[in-house]
Amino acid sequence: MDCQNAKTGLSPYLDSELPREDAAAIAAHLAQCERCRLLLEELRLVGIALRAQLATHRIPPFGVRSKVRAALALLPALRAPRASAWRSRRIWRRLGRTWLRARAR
Ligand SMILES: [Zn+2]
Repeated sequence: MDCQNAKTGLSPYLDSELPREDAAAIAAHLAQCERCRLLLEELRLVGIALRAQLATHRIPPFGVRSKVRAALALLPALRAPRASAWRSRRIWRRLGRTWLRARAR
């Protein structure tokens, strides 16, 4: 398994949603790939943070994305085409994806 395959499997792996063989393949890759281990750890932490957030704030299920987008539009720093802003956007996108996945359960 290469990193590309491993990456697509990390999230379901984390949630114990993979068939046993696939999980074993991911585990084998993780054992020898630090980059993917770090990614997995990051996914895990983001998941924990998000669940904590959701539990505390009871975010309403609809219209959240547009609210987040509106809030982001108010932050000029995020609109500036700087490397840091780009990173922020990526983090937000990742958070959004994880959040949607958490909701889909
Ligand atoms: Zn890897």
